Amino acid sequence: MSKKIDVIVDIPALQTNQNFTYLVDDSLENLVKVGSRVLVPFGQAGRPVQAYVISIESQANLDDLKNINALLDPEPMLNSELISLSNWLADQTYSFRANVLRAMLPNLLKLNTRRYVLVNEEKISKNEVLDLLGVEQANDLRIAELTHMQQAKLNEWVNQGVVELKYAIADTAKIKTEMQVYPNLSESDLKIEVSQLASNATGQIKLLKLLGTLDEDGIAQKKLINEEKIGRSTIESAEKKHWIIRKAIEKYRNPFQSKTVQSDSALILNSEQKIAKNMIDRQIKSKDSTPILLEGVTGSGKTEVYLQSIAEVVKQGKTAIMLVPEISLTPLMVNRVRARFGNQVAVLHSALSDGEKFDEWRRIVRQEVSVVVGARSAVFAPLQNLGIVIVDEEHSSTYKQEDTPRYSARDVAVYRARTNKCPVVLGSATPSLESRARAEKKVYNLVQMKERANKHDLPTIKIIDMRKELNSRADETFSKGMLTAINDRIAKKEQIVLLLNRRGFSSFVMCRSCGFVLKCPNCDVSLTMHVDTHSMRCHYCGHEEVIPKACKNCGSDKIRFYGTGTEKVEKQLAKLVPDAKVIRMDVDTTRRKGAHERLLDRFGNHEADILLGTQMIAKGLDFPDVTLVGVLNADTSLELPDFRSAERTFQLLTQVAGRAGRADKEGEVLIQSFNPDHYAIKLAQKQDYEDFFIKEMYLRKLGKYPPYFFTVQVAVSSGEEKTAAKVAFDIVNKIKKVVSDRSVILGPSPRSIAKIKQKYFYQLVIKFQKEPGLDQVLRSIRDEAQKQYRQGISISIDPEPQVFI
Ligand code: ADP
Ligand code: ZN
Ligand code: ZN
Repeated sequence: MSKKIDVIVDIPALQTNQNFTYLVDDSLENLVKVGSRVLVPFGQAGRPVQAYVISIESQANLDDLKNINALLDPEPMLNSELISLSNWLADQTYSFRANVLRAMLPNLLKLNTRRYVLVNEEKISKNEVLDLLGVEQANDLRIAELTHMQQAKLNEWVNQGVVELKYAIADTAKIKTEMQVYPNLSESDLKIEVSQLASNATGQIKLLKLLGTLDEDGIAQKKLINEEKIGRSTIESAEKKHWIIRKAIEKYRNPFQSKTVQSDSALILNSEQKIAKNMIDRQIKSKDSTPILLEGVTGSGKTEVYLQSIAEVVKQGKTAIMLVPEISLTPLMVNRVRARFGNQVAVLHSALSDGEKFDEWRRIVRQEVSVVVGARSAVFAPLQNLGIVIVDEEHSSTYKQEDTPRYSARDVAVYRARTNKCPVVLGSATPSLESRARAEKKVYNLVQMKERANKHDLPTIKIIDMRKELNSRADETFSKGMLTAINDRIAKKEQIVLLLNRRGFSSFVMCRSCGFVLKCPNCDVSLTMHVDTHSMRCHYCGHEEVIPKACKNCGSDKIRFYGTGTEKVEKQLAKLVPDAKVIRMDVDTTRRKGAHERLLDRFGNHEADILLGTQMIAKGLDFPDVTLVGVLNADTSLELPDFRSAERTFQLLTQVAGRAGRADKEGEVLIQSFNPDHYAIKLAQKQDYEDFFIKEMYLRKLGKYPPYFFTVQVAVSSGEEKTAAKVAFDIVNKIKKVVSDRSVILGPSPRSIAKIKQKYFYQLVIKFQKEPGLDQVLRSIRDEAQKQYRQGISISIDPEPQVFI
């Protein structure tokens, strides 16, 4: 008896955004599960496409259903919880279901179809076919590259039965194997074999002796060859003589950057931590999935609370997900989790290779791990029996995906917790206004930790008014106060963290004769100078050109480099503080895999006095000898045209200030600013989140911004500016018809960076509280977007966008 299955095919398009039904025959029916990937014949030609099983019914009496072609994985890569999650998430993000399912799975689980021609050589010679098609081989045919004449002939042949067009699937998922060697002789047999060998057969004798020392787990062939220096031919002949058995065994790739981690045990919680832990424990027990907002100052020991809560659910045989903003920046966090849970931990983040990600995914699917630590997409980890979800630094904008599907991992975490009837903990020193406001309304449970766990005071924070420093600055980047403090720490052999929110050497090149600024030819932004590569680079599209010696506009040689970047500051430091060793950490020095961790290790080992970096150094670092944190340009994030710029500035300054004085030595933080009276900077100085929350909520209310209003952004891009603008205006008119005048529509207007990669961008933002008709219009805009996409116009709908510039 066969079964009937419903699938979503892996083609994100309007026409395919629905269930399709297939048959599974007896041989496979027990293996196909909800969440399995299968291959199904699709469309008129029956082209095989990947599909995801979303439901299974026994009993199928419809004879006209087609059979699936294949089951792609021995175990389902998703589970029924994630399948139903995908339905909800597609709705939330105005995406097609296939987009969501794709985003959930690791990259390697994507299929490529190849087409090839099978020639019926009784009717035509193979060469004749190859000649006409103009190809060397018929096993990788790109139809789109054939002329129309060639395509017509090909179709004619197919119809006449002269050739057949076949599809081959290249499944990119690869399992890594290693050859393992197992001894196959008893002790007495070994002795006999040795005695029968000529004494000059040293390789074979050595191998036999070694075999005697092995247990049944055997030894890796690689090890035999590389470490024991046994030749490949010796191994092969040993196999022929049945001394050994060789098997290819499946190997997981090791995703951890540091190989081993010293294990540690739970600390004794202080009273604030206990209150937090008790609240979580109570909710675990009562299966209460109300989100818990854990608002704890930097260093209050939130991580310890997370770890002990995870330990609680693991003890009960359940599993846990812990999300961190961007794991490649926080190897220390991964190590803390591994120190507690050892090899029960899987890790998923963007710095892993596709192969490593695939292997970690399979360890999760096979229930070999109980804790998953990872960045945004780890929220989709196919764990069974989820017992807790933790979102560390819940305010971080990295939890929002900026591509289709534009989901918020924080919202997905809350949803998964509800489905699994388990708690979700949102932790931060500076919660997002959205989360904090929900706690205010008792939609979330709030628990606060106001003291540092190690009883050290929060560092003192001083603001240096750069306007007053204009005449007495040491140079254009460093105030006198900053430089004195740096020299003081260097003399005491203490360490310093310097934050500068801009990579590269200087921000732009301007001609002092004519005011010309060198811009990227593809994007509407100025190019940044990079001394290490001797080039001007675009940070949006990667365009690179030589550093100009004269103005490209007027030919004058009076060009000047304005602004400052990490590279330039590194040079300045070398002049101003020649004795200090500096480690620079930015996108450019951390491109290679594991680079973050190597640089941080070196800093931890005191191989440098100063860690200079972009905001990537603000999070999660915990170095006991850092006693000075300097922020060189607090204003860069304030200047952004985004209603969250004050919130972001407050968060960044609070985060980075938390890096000072983590251990016994007292910490100091110096912030250089041209806007020292701005409330975000003043309240960051006081480390007063609650005051900031009240002030900022008041401004959001006035401005009709989140969390008082919802926002949706629609962006249109096209190679032609006119077209982008026109489509954006059409959309606004459609929306205006359904929304009331209590809502606000901003735009359409060109983006502040109006042109990126040769495309012009127009956007509009709708601010609303309740608009029952809006959802429907947005869905219809999405559905039509597909037609326009073919004309080179792309339209994106972004609910609760995190980036407005
Ligand atoms: P947060 O995540 O809130 O910034 P951490 O968890 O990193 O704080 O804790 C800061 C420091 O305090 C760490 O060095 C940690 O080992 C220590 N710590 C945390 N909880 C305790 C405790 N209960 N007793 C002693 N030390 C603690
Ligand atoms: Zn000029
Ligand atoms: Zn560019």
